Amino acid sequence: MKCPVDKSQLQINSRESAVGYCCNVCNGILLTEKEISAFQYNFQTDILENLFAQSAKSYSDCFCPICENNMVVLPIDEMEIIACSKCKSLWFKKGLMLELLEKYSPDFKPRKQSVLEIISDWIFWIIPHLLLPIIFGLFYIWFKL
Ligand SMILES: [Zn+2]
Ligand SMILES: [Zn+2]
Repeated sequence: MKCPVDKSQLQINSRESAVGYCCNVCNGILLTEKEISAFQYNFQTDILENLFAQSAKSYSDCFCPICENNMVVLPIDEMEIIACSKCKSLWFKKGLMLELLEKYSPDFKPRKQSVLEIISDWIFWIIPHLLLPIIFGLFYIWFKL
């Protein structure tokens, strides 16, 4: 499969939190319908389907690496996804995937948890699971005596 922009060979790989056909020259990512449906973050199903449904078709210079159909431009905010309306493959320019995820995916966490967050998560776990039973246990013993 060849990059729709520079025609270099695409390789399946993980990039920008997505698994798809990646170009090592322009760093774009191609997601086929299969990869999109298997995608771990949930922005794609509704937002991308709406994009396909609503957009007035403006053709790009790219041709689909899978079915060779002329790909269309789907505008999303100030960004553009290049899409194949025939096989529903999507081409993301470098950085676009991360931008979309940060903007539209509520369950996407772009960075690692900080130490503070780990500690606060831990405290919120330990209060109901350990401290409250101990306190109630002590009260129970106290009143029994
Ligand atoms: Zn490329
Ligand atoms: Zn196609």
